[in-house]
Amino acid sequence: AADSAPAAGTVLLGRYELGGLLGRGASAKVYLARDLLTGRSVAIKSFPNPRAAGAGDRPVAIEREAGILRRLRHRHVVRLHEILATRKKVHFVLDLAAGGELFSLVDASGRMTEDLARHYFRQLVSAVRYCHARGVYHRDIKPENLLLDEAGALMVADFGLGAVATATDGSSLLRHTMCGTPAYVAPEILSRKGYEPAKVDIWSCGVVLFVLAAGYLPFNDASLVNMYRKIYAGRFRCPGWFSPALRDLLRRVLDPDPSARIDADGIVAHPWFRHGASDEELGRLMH
Ligand code: ADP
Ligand code: MG
Repeated sequence: AADSAPAAGTVLLGRYELGGLLGRGASAKVYLARDLLTGRSVAIKSFPNPRAAGAGDRPVAIEREAGILRRLRHRHVVRLHEILATRKKVHFVLDLAAGGELFSLVDASGRMTEDLARHYFRQLVSAVRYCHARGVYHRDIKPENLLLDEAGALMVADFGLGAVATATDGSSLLRHTMCGTPAYVAPEILSRKGYEPAKVDIWSCGVVLFVLAAGYLPFNDASLVNMYRKIYAGRFRCPGWFSPALRDLLRRVLDPDPSARIDADGIVAHPWFRHGASDEELGRLMH
């Protein structure tokens, strides 16, 4: 089959020796690989080559993801080193996120301390601010796409649903594409009235922050319709242990009215974001 797994030990272009599967998403499989030239480990995201498969708009989607990654260079964004195309596959050679998914930390202990949640939230917001300043919107910020490097620093991955503002539509780029993951999706996406992608990313960051500090989703229900209702209304309850400053920030981030919602600069200026443990103190918390 066109998307059969390449055997471990396969060497791509005489340079990248494939290892085991690291993860998979809707569009691709991601493998550990060793760069034989440098001896370093990398991640290889492999897509079935859409030209071989003849599949609809996939070529456009892969091109878009590559184009976005090429324009980003930030310590909390996964970096694209090169792209290899074979007859059956397109491979992105990426920085390896050796620490796995951020949310494996939440799974292990149920939740994290507010200080630790702030530590990761700061890294997430710095990446998102950087992207927005460059006209790039992720649109699928959620646990599976937030990874950790070998030193435990957060890396934003998977710009497969990303959007780029062009010179003509600028910062008010309005989108109608339904995208994202239900629990992390902003209310204005559900209402399909068009949305500003920057606001949508901010909303998702708020859901991530809530999950980190609470250990569960802010908007959840056995019924998808009921979950959507809660998202529309921006109806959520903070657990008793949240500090007043964190509650205040979350209410501003998870504001169902996108025009009233706080933006990345607002978050950075917010007392909860600014105050709290230094990175040095956090280093001790994390070990
Ligand atoms: P998709 O676009 O199909 O969702 P992703 O880019 O999200 O693909 O990758 C799928 C999964 O593979 C991720 O959720 C993560 O677990 C793993 N993964 C992705 N990129 C890396 C990387 N650079 N290093 C390590 N693991 C990765
Ligand atoms: Mg993904």
